[in-house]
Amino acid sequence: MGGRKRRKLVPVRQKPKLPKTFECPRCGKVSIAIKIKDGIGKVNCGSCGLSTEIEVPPVFGQVDVYGRFIDLYTEGKVEISGGEKIEDEGESE
Ligand SMILES: [Zn+2]
Repeated sequence: MGGRKRRKLVPVRQKPKLPKTFECPRCGKVSIAIKIKDGIGKVNCGSCGLSTEIEVPPVFGQVDVYGRFIDLYTEGKVEISGGEKIEDEGESE
């Protein structure tokens, strides 16, 4: 009895707060700030100095830009500038 599964579907009534900072994939700190202008998302880490720019559709918000950035970063397709350079020259393989 009472085996009713209650699934909690959170009602999306109020708008979730958009985080203003995001976790940096390089230093792990939540200090990524994202600005969007003219279809360019500017990603900047206030902690390690990572910064890059990626092209994004005009409809993209900060979260979307961050997602895209993470994808590109993971794939090594994003050009990172600023901060310490972490270059894997493949010492041993
Ligand atoms: Zn960082």
